[in-house]
Amino acid sequence: MSDVPGRISVREVGPRDGLQNEDPVPAAAKIALIDRLGRTGVSRIEAVSFVRAEAIPQMADADEVWAGVTRVPAVRYSALAPNLRGARRALDAGFTEVEVVVSASDTHNRKNVNRGTQESLDDIAVILAEAHGRGATCQVIVSTAWGCPYEGDVPVERVLRVAGRAVADGADSVSFGDTTGMATPRRVRDLVGGFRSRFPAVPLNLHFHNTRGTGLANVLAALELGVDDFDASVGGLGGCPYAPGATGNIATEELVHMVEDMGVGTGVDLAAMIDAAAEAERIVGRELPSQVLRAGPRTRTIPA
Ligand code: ZN
Repeated sequence: MSDVPGRISVREVGPRDGLQNEDPVPAAAKIALIDRLGRTGVSRIEAVSFVRAEAIPQMADADEVWAGVTRVPAVRYSALAPNLRGARRALDAGFTEVEVVVSASDTHNRKNVNRGTQESLDDIAVILAEAHGRGATCQVIVSTAWGCPYEGDVPVERVLRVAGRAVADGADSVSFGDTTGMATPRRVRDLVGGFRSRFPAVPLNLHFHNTRGTGLANVLAALELGVDDFDASVGGLGGCPYAPGATGNIATEELVHMVEDMGVGTGVDLAAMIDAAAEAERIVGRELPSQVLRAGPRTRTIPA
């Protein structure tokens, strides 16, 4: 238990990962949500992704959204790019933190970007060089790190090989994404333990989904291994593209609620994040899965 960090860094991914998996909403609503999140004390926000509008209509207005955001100096904003073209758009728009993604499973990668994992890793090497040449940092996200909707389990060794190639090519950090909510605490220990022993100096972010109810249990397992960097989505915005109606990302206010009570600081004002979750719910016009949004913090009382 002694490895639990005193503080973690939370990256709020609702505006990008969340809204990308909801029905499209107007740019003004996205800007309002990002601005509101910027006032919650969260230190990082994944704001937009630069993808082809035909591929993902939800993100077609990325430039407009980013131009409209009132940037909070204390917040680090990032953008996701699926390829070199998208990365150049992100860098042109002024982002200094870019995320690229590759699936550990070949089938998922082919379904996503029409190329194999190795080809994507070759592309990512070029993106890393370009980002670094322009003074930006680049995180490589390895998705389907705990399993693939087409192939099932993905061997830890394969995930580590993919991450290792990205590290060798200069990735500033690595993120493991539980794309379909297949992680469990013991699988978190297996993968994180393997990564830490092979790449002890490389910053690691974890991105859990709560599709099968293990999201926060996985966070706890990772905390006990010393992981101090997590993604979460306000309200639990965003579903699971492979299981209609299922939940996706862990909810930011649930993460904050749990870890702060353990004495792990986040910098996030829980009440402000719950308010932001309520706004996110209004924006998408459906009930979001966050249970802390429904029930309030554990110390909430009702009149006797
Ligand atoms: Zn996600």
